[in-house]
Formats: sequence, structure tokens, C-alpha cells
Amino acid sequence: MEVFQMPDALANKIAAGEVVERPASVVKELIENSIDANSSWIRVEAVEAGLQSIKVIDNGNGMSETDAEKAFLRHATSKIKDETDLFRVNTLGFRGEALASIAAVSRLTVKTSQGDSAGTFLSIEGGVITDRTKSDARKGTEIVVDDLFFNTPARLKYMKTIHTELGHITDLLNRLALSHPSIRFEVVHNGKPLFNTAGTGDLLQVISQVYGMSVARKMIPVKHETLDFSIEGYIAKPEVTRASRNYISTMVNGRYIKSMQLSQAIIRGYHTLLTVGRSPIVVLSIDMDPVLVDVNVHPTKLEVRFSKDKALAAAIEDMIHGAFRSTSLIPEMEPKQ
Ligand code: ADP
Ligand code: MG
Repeated sequence: MEVFQMPDALANKIAAGEVVERPASVVKELIENSIDANSSWIRVEAVEAGLQSIKVIDNGNGMSETDAEKAFLRHATSKIKDETDLFRVNTLGFRGEALASIAAVSRLTVKTSQGDSAGTFLSIEGGVITDRTKSDARKGTEIVVDDLFFNTPARLKYMKTIHTELGHITDLLNRLALSHPSIRFEVVHNGKPLFNTAGTGDLLQVISQVYGMSVARKMIPVKHETLDFSIEGYIAKPEVTRASRNYISTMVNGRYIKSMQLSQAIIRGYHTLLTVGRSPIVVLSIDMDPVLVDVNVHPTKLEVRFSKDKALAAAIEDMIHGAFRSTSLIPEMEPKQ
């Protein structure tokens, strides 16, 4: 059999299978790009849980005309340049494949401007640019993704109900909002507001906007520094628990990640205070030197690897345990006479 190199459009469609699993993945990639572009305001408008349409508008840096076109090419990124950068990633993106992947499996338009002159408008269908004109000069970027998976019917068929897909989007947006208290988020679904955050930088306020006032009132602030890690956030008193671990949010250097190891350390920190089968509500932001964490483990970057994983887990467990001891929820042992 003859070996041939795939055309870009085909390669992008294949890569899209990894990066774009469902509408929530599109929302994640677009918002992460907005965050990387230093936006202080991000608006999301989804229709039918994003299966019909997803619009993300930001007030970030925007792109020049040439960059806007390049951004949709495979492996095109402004975030890393060489291998040294790869081991010191300080942006949410760096793989340069999200926009190419999303554009390959949808009908997409982008309006973007750096605010100084007319902006750029591009229309892309299944990865092919079908229209390019000028647009207004409002600083920022607006990307609309319509008819996701229109050209990959097998993937479209795999989509769950609107209810399930919306659940994934809401869960993701909650965590993005919790990891970025300084960004004002506006989220609209089928024309109705889903939630808003104020963007004041106050994490407790975001917790209250996302999980409600009654939960926010039951949160205890925690903070712990070691030589390698700086950990800060809120942990709920053991009387407010949930049946799922979805209410544990861990952020590493501003990136929301899923880590069984860290979730378990958190639960161990609660010790015997939790009823079996119940999970706490926890929001922890962990900062460390980027060389200590490998974010290039999976295309969606939800999983990471820590080089000092045991020390980190121990620090978290001790911190939580200590917080409860000092708020005297754990009765101290009587000193032996
Ligand atoms: P990555 O985020 O890994 O660099 P993407 O495919 O997500 O790759 O985006 C490609 C590039 O397009 C980014 O590196 C960035 O320069 C540019 N870009 C994408 N979205 C935005 C945005 N909302 N504002 C400004 N620039 C953007
Ligand atoms: Mg990106």
C-alpha cells in the first residue's frame, strides 16, 4: 500500500475527535482562548446546549488580520515558540489545535479586532474559509460555532440529550468562573440568563453566584504555603455535602484540572467528618512553578502530572485537617493525665 500524507482538512477532522468531544469542549476551548487573550469580560450564548449554536464574545487582545487566518491552521499558536516554553507553559492553550479542530467539524464565523483599526471577519465551513471581509473595530473577539458535527454524523448521533449536554456546559462554566474570579462571565442559554459573575476578584462572591448564597455562607477560607506550593481557597463545612465529587474544583496555575489524587487528598483531609458516600464542596487554587507540572498529558489538558504529587497531596490533606482543628469542628483529644 502506498503511504500518503493526509491533507490538512482530513488531519484536522481526525484531531477534532480528540479535542472536540461534545459542545462543552467547544465552550471550554473558546473560553480558554478568551482568558489567554487577557479578557476581563466573557459572554457565552448557547442554543440547544450548544448543538445548534455556541457564541463566545470577549474583550481581550483580539487578532490581526493575518493572525486571524493563521489561527485556524493546525499547530498554529502564539503561546509557545520552542521546547523550553513547553516545559514552562503559563497559558491555558499551547497546542494550537483547538480552532483548527472546531472549524473542521462546524460552520464557524469569527470577528476580531485589536481595537486600533477595522477588524477581520472570517467565515469557515468544515475547515475551509468561505468568506473574508472587514468588520467593526471593537476590541476583542467573537466566535460563533453553528451546527457542530454537521459533517461527522456518527459523532452527532452520539450526543446525549440537551439536558445532559447542558449539564456538561454548566459544570464547565462553573469551574471556569471559579478559577477566574476577576473575569466577568455572562452565560445565556436559549436566550435566558444561566448565570453571571461580577468579576470583582472575590472568590467567595463567585462561589455564591455559582453555588448559591447558602453554600457560600458555609465556606471556610484556607491558605497554606510550602516551599513548592501555594494553596488557597474555600472548603465547605462538613454539614454541607453533595452526592458527587463534581463539587470539588482544583485549579493549578489558573487551569481547572481533574485529579483523582487531589480529590482523594481533600476527602482524606475531612477525615471522619464526612458521611460515607458524600463529597464536600471545595474550591482550591494551587500555584507552583510551571516546571513542576506537566500539562501536556492529554489533548483536553484536563489531566496533568505533578512531579511532586505526594508532597502536594500531603500538603492539601494537612491544610484541610488543620483548618477543621482550628475551627474546632474536630474535638481535640483530651490530654492524658
Ligand atoms: P492555542 O490556544 O493552543 O494557542 P488555538 O487553536 O486555541 O490554539 O488558538 C490559536 C491561536 O489563535 C491562539 O494561540 C491565539 O493567538 C489566537 N486566538 C484564539 N482565540 C483568541 C481570542 N479569543 N482572542 C485573541 N486571540 C485568539
Ligand atoms: Mg486554545
